[in-house]
Amino acid sequence: MSEKLAFIEQELEQLKAEKRYINIRTMESPADAWMVVDGKRVLNFCTNNYLGLANHPEIKAAAKAAIDQWGVGPAAVRTIAGTQSLHLEFERRMAAFKSVEAAMLVQSGFCANQAAIPALVGQDKATGAQDVIFSDRLNHASIIDGARLSGAKIIVYEHCDPADLEAKIKEHLPQYRRGLMVTDGVFSMDGDIAPLDRLYKVAEKYGVLTMVDDAHGEGVLGRGKGIVSHFGLEGRFDVEIGTLSKAFGVMGGVIAGKAIVVDYIRQKARPNLFSSALTPADTAACLAAVDYVERHPELVDRLWANAEYFKQGIAQIGLNTGSTQTPIVPVMLGEVGLAKTFSAKLFEYGVFAMALGFPTVPQGKARIRVMNTAAHSRQDLDLGLAVFERVAKELGVV
Ligand code: PMP
Repeated sequence: MSEKLAFIEQELEQLKAEKRYINIRTMESPADAWMVVDGKRVLNFCTNNYLGLANHPEIKAAAKAAIDQWGVGPAAVRTIAGTQSLHLEFERRMAAFKSVEAAMLVQSGFCANQAAIPALVGQDKATGAQDVIFSDRLNHASIIDGARLSGAKIIVYEHCDPADLEAKIKEHLPQYRRGLMVTDGVFSMDGDIAPLDRLYKVAEKYGVLTMVDDAHGEGVLGRGKGIVSHFGLEGRFDVEIGTLSKAFGVMGGVIAGKAIVVDYIRQKARPNLFSSALTPADTAACLAAVDYVERHPELVDRLWANAEYFKQGIAQIGLNTGSTQTPIVPVMLGEVGLAKTFSAKLFEYGVFAMALGFPTVPQGKARIRVMNTAAHSRQDLDLGLAVFERVAKELGVV
């Protein structure tokens, strides 16, 4: 081992000693209610495939047809020669779906935050004038990274706390050029919902830009339209971030909102200027998925019915599901070692549900996260609950 790489060896050993080394499992079949994982057929509670669209025949057919019509790659970044009429068609469709003036497609949800935040706020190189971002304490990593990348000052407000947001805005906004409030819509580790109406009111009162990342709300809240629709705030937010990789089952990110804001981000966002466009197959699949979600609200109903049934079953076993208000069900266990052993036992008995520990969630708050979907049958849920109960008893958790 070369001397200069010794630090890597040490850190990897430390991660393993602290049981924080991630052993990545291999999927050997499409994302669905049941999957083959590391050679074993298991009941899947891990993927964000809320509406079961990741392996849907209609959406796959759209992707295949797009390859025949458009080829496999855009061969350029969008601002040079990569914007195909297919991308523009998707953007019009997505804007209509979200009831906003405009939408812009980028390569992923993660990328959407790296694109949008640094475009809107930062620090003026010539004058040194700095902007300020008011960010929920539990915002997703892609929001945090986008905020850091922007060069704006980051002020964290307490989780889902409009009163603290207001106090922080009052204290800090006067020292900065402009402000941006940014929150997850649904928090993916706990499944709780941001009080979007009250956060919006506070931010508007002080002339702060408003941004919500609806990655886990699309296809789930607001009859599938997302958290902004759930709160009846369509068209009000300056920026709505979305992803096509969860309920829509595909891949890609969206920056939506007021036309002038989206137009500005197109001009400024570095992932739009320096990274190639989403492939035709992905884009066509995204378009088909948005259409499908709009035509099939019964999938959203099934998702919620499944989630309620599962949550009740977990509560009856005597396990704690934290503060969830959505189909994301965290089964709170505390220590990361226990959560990992729990997950390994579930897998042994045919259920795939991952343990999440620090730094994904705070120290001492390790959990198994169950992602309910419309693809699960009642029989699947009963089987899953029976295995949870068996493992909880074996490990003395209940
Ligand atoms: N934002 C939030 C709130 C998310 O939960 C995720 C997915 N983990 C992302 C963005 C990233 O989305 P994508 O997987 O499309 O990059």
